[in-house]
Amino acid sequence: MQFYNIKHPDERVSFKQAVLQGLGREQGLFFPSSLPEFTPEQIQELLALPFQERATKILGAFIGDEFSEAEIKELVTKAFNFPAPVVKVEDDIYTLELFHGPTLAFKDFGGRFMSQVLRLLAKERKITILTATSGDTGAAVAHAFYQIPNIEVVVLYPKGRISELQEKLFCTLGGNIKTIAINGDFDACQALVKQAFDDQELREAIGLNSANSINISRLLAQITYYFEAYARLNTDKPVLVSVPSGNFGNLTAGLLAKALGLPISKFIAATNANDTVPRYLASGKWEPNKTQATLSNAMDVSRPNNWPRIEELFRVKGWSLTQDLFSAPVSDETTAQTIVALDKEGYLSEPHGAVAYRVLKDHLQPGQVGVFLGTAHPAKFKGEVENILKREIALPEQLAKYKDLPLLSANLDADYELLKAFLLAEK
Ligand SMILES: *Cc1c(COP(=O)(O)O)cnc(C)c1O
Repeated sequence: MQFYNIKHPDERVSFKQAVLQGLGREQGLFFPSSLPEFTPEQIQELLALPFQERATKILGAFIGDEFSEAEIKELVTKAFNFPAPVVKVEDDIYTLELFHGPTLAFKDFGGRFMSQVLRLLAKERKITILTATSGDTGAAVAHAFYQIPNIEVVVLYPKGRISELQEKLFCTLGGNIKTIAINGDFDACQALVKQAFDDQELREAIGLNSANSINISRLLAQITYYFEAYARLNTDKPVLVSVPSGNFGNLTAGLLAKALGLPISKFIAATNANDTVPRYLASGKWEPNKTQATLSNAMDVSRPNNWPRIEELFRVKGWSLTQDLFSAPVSDETTAQTIVALDKEGYLSEPHGAVAYRVLKDHLQPGQVGVFLGTAHPAKFKGEVENILKREIALPEQLAKYKDLPLLSANLDADYELLKAFLLAEK
């Protein structure tokens, strides 16, 4: 299938090209040129399959013209080699736990699938991956690409604004993984990445590629677990899905799942105090404020970079942003209270999942079933969760082993020329 640039619809590329390029002209996002649609019978058949087989068929609907079914199956099997359980939290409220991969966050799904696709494409030429992270993307990308031949990874993150443990998880690997702490916030990191992608000369010099949530491969990978949630719930009631949102890639994937025919009745975009989207849905005005630091720091984004895809999808499908989507913000104070309340019910949560639970709980009507996405393992936000619950929580083995390793990050001001010099020196 071809993918077009939302800003310049005449720019159309194959899936492989879209993955390599990341962005189109003028930083335009790629979008599928046609949206596959499964019939209700086909959806039932898909729901009956095991995760990997189902994922192979879903992804095949988008990329089946460029990869054989056996290749897709191999990509899927290598990328999604961990479970995504649905856990009951209380009557009619469930969580889809997406944090059982190697870096304990849902970004492992997109990151690992993308690295498998690029492993095939890097046989031709060297690739440099440049990505900005507010925490979890960086870890997922760094781990997914660690030691993949002919691929160099550079990750930018806002200095002092991600948890110590998060930083340890991806800034200690070395080898083909370079990390840079930027003196600025996440939006500043994201702006630097965008500038680099606009720099044609640099792009060609180092085979620049993006692996953050703007890459189409990550988005497609994430569609697959919405089907898993629906299959596990196995209910006749209307299903609401609440997504803790920052850059809105996760929500875009959920909406694409719905476009394919998955009968989710409504999506909820839960945000923290960075509430550009809920204010936009209420007022019709796009007015980003300055990014605020919150407890759910992977969602500290005031200019969500996937939003144009959501607008495009609603336009193509004729859906209504105000009727088919609900969005509300949650303060840090309420997030903390929610973590305490969930803990009393016997479910150990963390700030991102708690934000999603809160909006779902407040919005759910009798007769509906809700599922919120658990995007990170509570131990990834150990300090915050322990402060709130006033007790210690255990560190899983996957994290414990990085705790005492030295940080290998460079440190730069948020200045494009400095970044460019760094990248060219790596060549
Ligand atoms: C990245 C992230 C989010 C936000 O996902 P988007 O796709 O950027 O909206 C939510 N929770 C966690 C733990 C994350 O790492």
